[in-house]
Amino acid sequence: MDCWFDNEHRNLRRQIRAWVKNNLGPGDHGQGNLEINACRLANQLGQDGFMAYAVPSRFGGVRETVQARDLCLIREELAWGSALADVMFGVQALGSYPIALAGSEEQQRRYLPPLAKGERIAAFALTEPNAGSDVSAISTQAERATSGYRLNGVKHFISNAGIAHTYVVFASTQPQAKAKGLSAFIVESNSAGFTVKEKTPRGIEDRPTHPGHATLHGGRRCRRFCAESFGRSRGLQPKSAPVRACACGVPKDTV
Ligand SMILES: Cc1cc2nc3c(=O)[nH]c(=O)nc-3n(C[C@H](O)[C@H](O)[C@H](O)COP(=O)(O)OP(=O)(O)OC[C@H]3O[C@@H](n4cnc5c(N)ncnc54)[C@H](O)[C@@H]3O)c2cc1C
Repeated sequence: MDCWFDNEHRNLRRQIRAWVKNNLGPGDHGQGNLEINACRLANQLGQDGFMAYAVPSRFGGVRETVQARDLCLIREELAWGSALADVMFGVQALGSYPIALAGSEEQQRRYLPPLAKGERIAAFALTEPNAGSDVSAISTQAERATSGYRLNGVKHFISNAGIAHTYVVFASTQPQAKAKGLSAFIVESNSAGFTVKEKTPRGIEDRPTHPGHATLHGGRRCRRFCAESFGRSRGLQPKSAPVRACACGVPKDTV
């Protein structure tokens, strides 16, 4: 399907393939200290310019708008080399995207450049014990407070929890409005009341894939920034298509 890709895409594939070859040895799937490896990979992917594909150029990224094809190419190659490296890239892109899509100018300037450089790590906190596929069941609530919002609720299965600095957390400002009452909030890991209660490392076969899923507990303040990060998935989306690309990359060395 070459019609999908131009020369910039082909160059990107060559670069990321070379990066995987040079930086991830055979069998290097992040064994050892998972969290240290996870942070190291995020930093390195940032320093070497790949995290920048997840952020618009105005805020330290590569292209004017984030392009799903770039994310797919990077995830497919990374997933082949190391499931952990792929997850670090994928979750960084997932956590950055709502800010790039709907953050205020001030929020984008503040949060996106360090994410593009891999200096800070992102997480995306949507799922709750009683709200998975059905996001309208989210019970985390956000109430106006003196300088922003106070969030109350519990999230779980949150990749990068405990190592991330910047969390995008979905909560309801109008519970009676169900999914239409949801907004996304930026929560920094040092926010008052924010806790990571439990970490549950997981793996696919012998590959640790996530530095940890965690339960987040919090009563915390932050600023509202978007109400439209999901629910508009049409075509090749930066949010969902790269997950499928990752699924193509993982089995490459087994087929
Ligand atoms: C490796 C991993 C990483 C994750 N990382 C994150 C993260 O970073 N952030 C985050 O917010 N979440 C994360 N999650 C959570 C993930 O998004 C949820 O697991 C997912 O949304 C499904 O929710 P659930 O597990 O509650 O399953 P459920 O919603 O209970 O679904 C269980 C099963 O029922 C099916 N089902 C549900 N509703 C219907 C329906 N209406 N019709 C037919 N079938 C249906 C589903 O397809 C599924 O097979 C992660 C999960 C995993 C496994």
